[in-house]
Amino acid sequence: MAALVGQFLTGHFPTRAYLHRFGHSPSPVCEACGDMDTREHMLLDCMRWAFHRQRLHEELRVTWPHYLRGERPLPSWSWDFLVGSSVGRLWLGKFLSAVRPRWQMLDQFHCTSSMEDSPEESD
Ligand SMILES: [Zn+2]
Repeated sequence: MAALVGQFLTGHFPTRAYLHRFGHSPSPVCEACGDMDTREHMLLDCMRWAFHRQRLHEELRVTWPHYLRGERPLPSWSWDFLVGSSVGRLWLGKFLSAVRPRWQMLDQFHCTSSMEDSPEESD
């Protein structure tokens, strides 16, 4: 999970926009939404992950008093919270772990249909 978060934070995260930049995806656009498939899109907007986003935000609401003893108001599911705070990164990790299997499956399907050699994991 830490590796996933690290990849995400440094920008080396295989969204379509990222893969497209290096010629590994025919399009940088999310097939589900028609928007650019960036990290922000995946984390905040993409309809494919709406369920996970909602579930984790609900979990955050329930467990938030345990963090910082509830001294701060419940954070929103925002880029600043998820990327810019240590507690937020915990939720970022949960989100990435939850969506990774499905998202990898979709991307592999996408890649193998357009590339001869199957892409290797580069961790
Ligand atoms: Zn999308």
